[in-house]
Amino acid sequence: MNASPGPLSIGVLALQGAYGAHAKALIALGAIPRLVRVPKELEGLDGLIMPGGESTTMLKFLERNAFFDILQTYVKSTPTFGTCAGAILLATHVEGPAQRSLAALDITVERNAYGRQIDSTILTSDTALPGGPLEMVFIRAPRITRTGPTVETLATRDGFPTLVRSGHLLAATFHPELSGDPRVHQLFLNLVREHQSTA
Ligand code: GLN
Repeated sequence: MNASPGPLSIGVLALQGAYGAHAKALIALGAIPRLVRVPKELEGLDGLIMPGGESTTMLKFLERNAFFDILQTYVKSTPTFGTCAGAILLATHVEGPAQRSLAALDITVERNAYGRQIDSTILTSDTALPGGPLEMVFIRAPRITRTGPTVETLATRDGFPTLVRSGHLLAATFHPELSGDPRVHQLFLNLVREHQSTA
């Protein structure tokens, strides 16, 4: 019963965007990344990361093979971490402009709220995570403009949440896979373990 748990198998949605760096961050923490390109590849995973990239492009790919509907059901019960475009996909409400989403995490996001590509930036901010300030890489980032009552804010930029958690779901408006700091991926792996022990 109490055998030490094996490595976690974590899917990385690999339709488009920054999935490779997430896979590397997972390996560094002892997890096994599995690239997910078709719905069948979701089988047997302990959790899923949806990377940054372009959410509209990801949505186009998700329209194939009923992937959108399958993913929508999947994220309701499986630990999922959305970064940047992935956070946009998870949100219940998307603005700037409005677009379809999986509507799993009770937040409103405003796309490209910090300006165009040239305004992409690296900031360091206080965080609720142990270990001191957190570096955050923003690339045409969305802004979380509303969080529902179950959503906990773990880091902010100018008073707006940048890292949020609600139950088995985690979302970041920045790219933790592009900083050397493993704490955000570790937080997700902890959340996955926690979910398994309460399931
Ligand atoms: N601007 C992108 C979008 O709206 C997100 C950018 C990112 O993921 N780095 O989907």
